[in-house]
This record gives sequence, structure tokens and C-alpha cells, in this order.
Amino acid sequence: MDSARGWVVVGIDNGGTSNNATILDASGRFLVDRLVEMPSRVTEGPEVAIDAMAGALENVLDLTGVAPEAVRGVGLDTPGPASADGVISSKGATNFSEPEWRGFDVRGALEARLGLPVVYNNDANAAALYAHHIRYGDKAGAHSSISAIVGTGLGGGVVESGRVIKGAAGMAGELGHVQIPMHGLLAEGQPVPVCNCGFVGDAESVASLTGIMRNLLPYWLTRFENHELSRVGDIGAAAKKVRGLGERGDPLAVAIFEQQAIAIGRLFTIAANFIDPDTYFLGGGVVETTPRFRQWFLGKVREHTDLREEQTRVATFALVPDLDMAGARGAAIAAFGQLQAPVRARTSL
Ligand SMILES: [Zn+2]
Repeated sequence: MDSARGWVVVGIDNGGTSNNATILDASGRFLVDRLVEMPSRVTEGPEVAIDAMAGALENVLDLTGVAPEAVRGVGLDTPGPASADGVISSKGATNFSEPEWRGFDVRGALEARLGLPVVYNNDANAAALYAHHIRYGDKAGAHSSISAIVGTGLGGGVVESGRVIKGAAGMAGELGHVQIPMHGLLAEGQPVPVCNCGFVGDAESVASLTGIMRNLLPYWLTRFENHELSRVGDIGAAAKKVRGLGERGDPLAVAIFEQQAIAIGRLFTIAANFIDPDTYFLGGGVVETTPRFRQWFLGKVREHTDLREEQTRVATFALVPDLDMAGARGAAIAAFGQLQAPVRARTSL
């Protein structure tokens, strides 16, 4: 092993059921090309979950034969909401429902457990960083991008000059809660959608699984009488079937996805005027569909993103790649970026 490859960073993507780990070496190469998963045990509280993260690190080191002494630091990402430095929201978080998690410093706890520096990002920010770096490689520092990640909620990330914009309280890139114009998006008689955060008409109230369940599906079922989804007793279960129906061209599902594409397009229009990024990335469940459906959806998003002519010439629209590995890899890239700078240079600032 030459000296340039003498150290590594480990990326750990912490989720509701599993931790996914990866290793990035000093030359910028990932040492695993697949998911390396271990149970995350987050429902058993912080102490057990921190041990599980340490276990995920040991497991990926064993698997690759990398010596523990070679690890310079760890990149960690978790679902939010959390502070920029990895303190879980004091109001609680969907993934961290036990009371001990409220206000828990997950980054600090893992750092103390491992005796290694830990760099924290929320999961959407980590995925955004990965998408950006895969697209731009060693030119990452010269470009900007925005990523919208559609899942249960609508997460996202903004990358400028190769770095995630975190904001003062860690809440930059909370794209889901940006309010968007509803005029021309809603159909006749359709109620203004409401978000879990309390806002009306924000991007997540339309472009998320929660938005389908709470807002879009209840309305569209009134427009398609005797639709098969009206016979699914539970609205949550029905909402999860919309994606599959959309892939098969079901008109109700297509109407829902068109509204979601318009919502994301309007969100990207705000982004165009606010940060004017090089690339607009789309990720999440909607991307984990048939190639034909996701290209149709991405095309719709692009159609509803209102760019100036100068922007149209330089902007690109793309899908977040390797979505299941994007969190761990993005977390590792973030740690790599912070830990490769000589310590003296960082502390002298
Ligand atoms: Zn909201």
C-alpha cells in the first residue's frame, strides 16, 4: 500500500432499519461497490444504536481487510431533523421516536465511542453531495447543484462550490417546506394541500408519499369514481400503490404524478432564481421505478422548471445515481473533504 492510500474514511448511513457502511480511500476510491448493511437498532434507544454504528464500522473494515489504524475519521448521516452538528431535534424525529433521542448528540456520541473525528450530515444532504461529486469529480469545487429527494417527505440538499450549504441552524436545503405557487397546479375544487409542518401549499404537501396520502389521493378518488384504490380500506396502503399504478399508466396515478412534477418544477424555479445551480437532481422513490416512467417524470419536472434562456443553455437535469448507496458515500465524501486538510491549517483559522 503506497503512502497516498495509507488512510481511509468510513461512511455510515444510518436509517430506520439498517446502517449502510462504505470506505473511501485517500485516493478518492470507494473500496466497496455494494450495500454493506447491518441492523441499525435505532428503536432500542441511543446507547444500543451507537454500538450498532460502531459494529457497522468494524464489519466493513473486516470485509475489506482495512486496518482500524488506517481510519482517519467517519462520515455519518441520519434522517433529520437534526442540527448541522448532528443533534437530533428536541421535538423528536420520525426515525428516532424514543424519548432518549430528543436533543441527543448522535455525532458527539459516536465520536466518543470510536475515539475518531465524526463529520455529520442529514441523509438528504449526504445524497445531494454524492450526486454532485459523481457528476463533477475533481471539478466538484467549481460547480453547484440542488437535489430534491422524494420519499415519505421531500428532502433535499444544496451544494455550492462542492460543499453542502448547511445554514446557521442546519436547516438549509429543507426544500420540502418551501412554499410554492398553487395557482394552475391544483385542479378544480381541489383543496389547498397541508403539510405536516403546518404550512399550506409547500412542496412536500404535494411531492411526497405523505402528500399523496393526506392531500392528493383523497381528492383524486373523488374524481375517479369506483377506482380500484377506493376499495383499499387504508389510505396509507392505497397511497403506496400509486407509484406502481403510475408505471402502468393509470390515469388517476398519472394525474397525481403530474401534480408532483409541477410542484418540483416550481420548487426548482425558485432555486433557479435563488442559487442558479448547474444541475437539478431528482432522487427518491420516484426514481426507483421503470426507466421509462422516471424519464417521463424527470421530463415533466424539467418542463415545469421555468429557466431563463441563459440558464437553459448551461443547466442540466439528472437523477441521483446509486440511491441506496448515496447516503453512505456522500457521508464519506463529506468526511474526506474535512479531514484531508492538514490539521494545522484548519486550527490556525
Ligand atoms: Zn412543510
